[in-house]
Amino acid sequence: MNKPAEPIVGDTRRVPYAKPQPWGMVPDMVVHDVLAEDERLWAPVAPDIWSRPLQLNVTGGFYVHLLRVRRSGVLQRHRHSGQVHAYVMKGSWFYLEHDWVAREGTYVFEPPGETHTLVVPDDCSEMITLFTVHGALMYVDPQGESIGYDDVFTRIDKYREHFDKVGLGAEHVRRFMR
Ligand code: FE
Repeated sequence: MNKPAEPIVGDTRRVPYAKPQPWGMVPDMVVHDVLAEDERLWAPVAPDIWSRPLQLNVTGGFYVHLLRVRRSGVLQRHRHSGQVHAYVMKGSWFYLEHDWVAREGTYVFEPPGETHTLVVPDDCSEMITLFTVHGALMYVDPQGESIGYDDVFTRIDKYREHFDKVGLGAEHVRRFMR
């Protein structure tokens, strides 16, 4: 059993940092309702596919969002110009180019340069994954020919349009921007 710690004279462990933060630092951000119940925060990106932004970082050129999918099958094929970090919160998905399946609790690193085809298996009715996407996703055909792209700026445009449409106002997007 742990004995309660003896108070130590001059103990500075619980004293907050006394100096100012660096000049130019952007404000921190805390999002408590990551799995927002307010449906207005989930922007539709395609039929049965939604994106809920957490951070839209225009300085670093990356964005953090939750992708929620309520259908199975091929979603899209894309090439990454930057690194991607994924954490599966619900359901499962896989890439046609790999033999692994990302399930609830799985972490995935997608290296810059990789092209893959995202598929939600038939036995999955809802998939939710937290993605941190650096740079751009270039949507491509099987030969790698570009048919479109997404990056933090195209995302911001889409969220602005959505937030405006659902009554939160286009400027609501600024809450997620750094
Ligand atoms: Fe990807």
